[in-house]
Amino acid sequence: MREADAIVVGAGPNGLVAALVLARSGLAVDVYEAADEPGGGCRTAALTLPGFHHDVCSAVHPLLLASPAFRDIDLSAHGVRLLTPPVAFAHPLGGARAVSVGPDVADVARSLGTDGRVYSQLVAPLVRDLDKILPAFLGSMRDVPPHPLAAAAFALRGLSSAQYLARRFRTEEGRALVAGTAAHSMLPLTAPLSGVFPRLFTALAHRYGWPVVEGGSAAIVDALVAELTAAGGRVETGRLVKRLDDLPPARAVLLDVTPRQLLEMAGDALPSGYGRALARYRYGPGVCKVDWALDGPVPWNAEGCRDAVTVHVGGTFEEIARSEADVNAGRHPDHPYCLVTQPCVVDPGRAPEGQHTLWAYCHVPNGSPVDMTERIESQIERFAPGFRDLILGRSTFTAVATEEHNPSYVGGDINAGSATLRQMIFRPTARWNPYRTAMKSVYLCSAATPPGGGVHGMCGLGAARAALHDLGHDGADAA
Ligand SMILES: Cc1cc2nc3c(=O)[nH]c(=O)nc-3n(C[C@H](O)[C@H](O)[C@H](O)COP(=O)(O)OP(=O)(O)OC[C@H]3O[C@@H](n4cnc5c(N)ncnc54)[C@H](O)[C@@H]3O)c2cc1C
Repeated sequence: MREADAIVVGAGPNGLVAALVLARSGLAVDVYEAADEPGGGCRTAALTLPGFHHDVCSAVHPLLLASPAFRDIDLSAHGVRLLTPPVAFAHPLGGARAVSVGPDVADVARSLGTDGRVYSQLVAPLVRDLDKILPAFLGSMRDVPPHPLAAAAFALRGLSSAQYLARRFRTEEGRALVAGTAAHSMLPLTAPLSGVFPRLFTALAHRYGWPVVEGGSAAIVDALVAELTAAGGRVETGRLVKRLDDLPPARAVLLDVTPRQLLEMAGDALPSGYGRALARYRYGPGVCKVDWALDGPVPWNAEGCRDAVTVHVGGTFEEIARSEADVNAGRHPDHPYCLVTQPCVVDPGRAPEGQHTLWAYCHVPNGSPVDMTERIESQIERFAPGFRDLILGRSTFTAVATEEHNPSYVGGDINAGSATLRQMIFRPTARWNPYRTAMKSVYLCSAATPPGGGVHGMCGLGAARAALHDLGHDGADAA
């Protein structure tokens, strides 16, 4: 039995990236994972019927392609294939009407008619400058980014709300496009920063597409575990860590958990000021997610939705704004905004021949036990009449069940903390290095640290760099 130099609690994408960076630096790393398999929000399972493979959580991976944390990880050597659909995302508006976003800015601009010019003026410079903007957005939010002017210009414009941004568009299509992408943030569409998401996600769609992983997202985790094992690291599943005191001694402990869990795990060992700062951390709305086994593709009325993996369902800007305002006010919308993905459009192997899997969630108040299946199905049926007749099986996770499945999704919040302006900058607390805690040699590496939710591994990379720096490893650049 060897003693570990570093222990990582939680084998989500961030925990595994942190473990890999540490192991590649020569440390003996052990990862303890509460669930029976590694992956956290990046797993694939037969949730409905045999032969139907569903992404339990994350499904669509533009951030993975854009992330510096994955640049030195050769996923393709482990058989990971990213499949990019011809249409990154689409948004039905009733009848044959829809707006769809493929790789070409000019094509989308043309489809928007009178809003084409506004769209080009807004999106084309972002696509051009995306590589200058992303390091700031995917960084620790504390460092001076490599291209400060481009990043500052983007950040200043992004401070506005989605509602403000939507005023630039005249057509229902243009305004719906803003709402559908802004609502990923789970913020009310009147909130500051909600306007950053349409800009960023649309630019990502044009530059990287919105790909899924062949066979399911779990392939990313399998690759990370294989790389970690090759670097001498170990993953132990079925090991829930309740208290930091229960861990064997190690030179560094990295926690893929959120502030509320750290408070429980550390108990009295946390300095009171830091404990109070963690207790002020705010969680966002939860999600209610449904997966279906279908006897064929979703019969969207609008052709533009049939080639997209991601479909934003919810109707006009005003309808989506109402849905998100309801959720943020603690109400369950009757007509929820739904994020829908149909991976079989590019990955038919996810289901038996001719059949399809479908994944969708809507936002609900944090901690909600309410099953939204009926309301989500009604929304899809509204734009795809006959959808219900195709259902062979389904599985639903309410927000409460989402937290039971993964304790890091507190109250069903899949982003490990709300994306308010304060928490985007001072995530999880207002410390200079957000990954260090007030406990010596204990770090946070989860999506509750910058840059927040998503499968990009940047929280893990940031925490591993801080730990390596503190351990005196050359080249670790976290101040
Ligand atoms: C329904 C849903 C859809 C999503 N869709 C997308 C998407 O399409 N694209 C995208 O990029 N992102 C998506 N996300 C978000 C993404 O999954 C997360 O942001 C990402 O997984 C965060 O990674 P993480 O490593 O910080 O935490 P997690 O993936 O949450 O992993 C944390 C791990 O720590 C373990 N753990 C927690 N506490 C303990 C403990 N005390 N002891 C031991 N182990 C513990 C948990 O079991 C878990 O395995 C989605 C999430 C959900 C739930």
